Amino acid sequence: MKLVICEKNISARRIAYILSEGKSKSSRVGKIPVYDFSKDGESWRIIGLKGHIINLDFPAGYNKWNKVIPADLIHVNPVKKVSEKGIAAALKSLVDANPYLIVATDFDREGELIGVEVIDLLKEYNKEINHIKRAKFSAITNYEIKNAFDSLTEVDYNLSSAGETRQVIDLVWGAVLTRFISIASDRFGKDFLSIGRVQSPTLALLVDREKEIKNFVSKPFWKIIANLKKGESFNAIHVEGQFWDEKKVQGIFNKIKNSKFAIVKKFEKKLMRELPPPPFSTTTFLESASYLRISASRAMSIAEELYMSGLISYPRTDNTVYPRSLNLKGILEKLKNSNFSKEVQEVISNGRSHPMRGKKETTDHPPIHPVGVPVGKKLTGDSAIVYELVVRRFLATLAKDAISENVFALFDISNEEFKADGYRIIEPNWRNIYTYFKEKKNVLPELIKNEKIDVTKISLKEDKTKPPARYTQGSLIAKMEQLSLGTKSTRHEIINKLHSRRYITLSPLAPTPTAIAVIDALDDCEVVKPRMTATLEQDMDSISEGKKTLKETVAESRKMLSEVMTSLEKERDKIKTSIKDAQREENTIGKCPICGKDMIIRNSKKGKRFVGCTGYPNCNNTYSLPQFGGVFSTGKVCEKCSAPVVRIKAKGKRAWELCLNSNCSSKKPTKK
Ligand SMILES: [Zn+2]
Ligand SMILES: [Zn+2]
Repeated sequence: MKLVICEKNISARRIAYILSEGKSKSSRVGKIPVYDFSKDGESWRIIGLKGHIINLDFPAGYNKWNKVIPADLIHVNPVKKVSEKGIAAALKSLVDANPYLIVATDFDREGELIGVEVIDLLKEYNKEINHIKRAKFSAITNYEIKNAFDSLTEVDYNLSSAGETRQVIDLVWGAVLTRFISIASDRFGKDFLSIGRVQSPTLALLVDREKEIKNFVSKPFWKIIANLKKGESFNAIHVEGQFWDEKKVQGIFNKIKNSKFAIVKKFEKKLMRELPPPPFSTTTFLESASYLRISASRAMSIAEELYMSGLISYPRTDNTVYPRSLNLKGILEKLKNSNFSKEVQEVISNGRSHPMRGKKETTDHPPIHPVGVPVGKKLTGDSAIVYELVVRRFLATLAKDAISENVFALFDISNEEFKADGYRIIEPNWRNIYTYFKEKKNVLPELIKNEKIDVTKISLKEDKTKPPARYTQGSLIAKMEQLSLGTKSTRHEIINKLHSRRYITLSPLAPTPTAIAVIDALDDCEVVKPRMTATLEQDMDSISEGKKTLKETVAESRKMLSEVMTSLEKERDKIKTSIKDAQREENTIGKCPICGKDMIIRNSKKGKRFVGCTGYPNCNNTYSLPQFGGVFSTGKVCEKCSAPVVRIKAKGKRAWELCLNSNCSSKKPTKK
């Protein structure tokens, strides 16, 4: 019997369908679906996992936070625990038949580790298992799957070992630092403060940006704009661009403000070729999805579904160069019968001779591209948007350069020089296919050198420099990639984790006061610096290549953590004060209308939250709060009763503003 292990049930079902030519039958072992068929006289059984079915944790005695000193965990070896008992039980009953095992999980570090976890578990159940092979594929299509099962390879234990090293280090660092900082700041139970190897340096990026924004001092500057007219009107700007000196700009403006004519000194046109974008890696894909207002984690989970349904290739890849073996023509043939037949025809009859290439070339998976067309059920909502994005990107990489016309004009107005830039697209080519970039069209009229044209108005505009923009999910993921923080598979999950730990708000993407205090507390510690993580990524590559071992790497990392803990212990009191202050700032929602002291969010003995006056016991003023959703200070007081007005934001709902006083004459909450 051949037993095939897949990463998820949905991929198991599809792989069974492909290998059996549609003849597989599903049944259940316990509650777990299994797909059976026979082929060439041999029986096959295919089962899907739920990703990792084994979890790494400390031995039971070490899980009591109040009984174990955090630093003592550094040298404790984690143990493996089955986290998916139903699947483990199903595997146990399947392995009795001493099957020929084929690992068909995703082909990357995590996938290899998931496979090896299962192999180790099955060997515990049945020592006789000797036939173990690996099926490697980048798309769940007929061709790729059959090819993978016709040319099985060996399981790569170096690769899985790299994955396991990451697991061990993440567990140890995370547990030690999380417990240390939570205990130091008296945050227990569900209010614990989590620290992580990738999570914390990512949070530090957001905190740094927030500080830059907060400390930004904007400077005023001025521009002189001339509105000119030849047939249609257009704007030209003084060649100096931004003036920083008000006197100077005022002087020039006063001199020329009544000018009636501009003389054309230069009029140049240039044709420019604009290359299509390169093929999608995970990062550029997530960035583009983020422009379409689909969050990184949502885009990733949709991409995974599309992959498992055989519509797009494996969505976790750093590669931006199509491998030679990829049958681009075959994909175009398939896409002919899709909603994009017009664009496909354009690419077939008028495409570029070589597809676009990006800068990074790897050999594990191709760039993300479509591999199939939905049949029967149509894609809807965000799934349809993501699929279309992948298809359009793919087609664009095969389309010809766009041609644009760039115009530059220079004018003399009362002896001051003004300039104007024009831009328009003449041959859109790929831009007609990849329609997500807005065209910044600005058409100038045809001008002739030395001609005199009308000035309709000259105006002086004051503006000021702006602070750096906050990160978007897309730009944060790109920054993380640049710093080797996390992997293509985990970056979007890290952002989610920071949000669920209440370290950040998502719109805008900004840290909370507690997050700022935590990062400040860890300021001198390696754990918030990207360097340590980048080193670990290199170590994991070395482990994959067999040049380093799990043991050495984990030992080095434990040594580093011991040093970190020694320095943190010295700062313990400072850390405690700053986190508590931040917590208080976060929980302060306004002034008491009775005594004028701060009102803060507190928890009652029964665990219900309410707002109480810090003047207690002299002042007994309290307000009740809704028990769900985030509560934020608005800095406003109610016009009717002077109680603080708060903003309530519950998941999936619009924010509300609410006077805290339930007896207030305004009574009904106002929606904002
Ligand atoms: Zn009070
Ligand atoms: Zn009120």
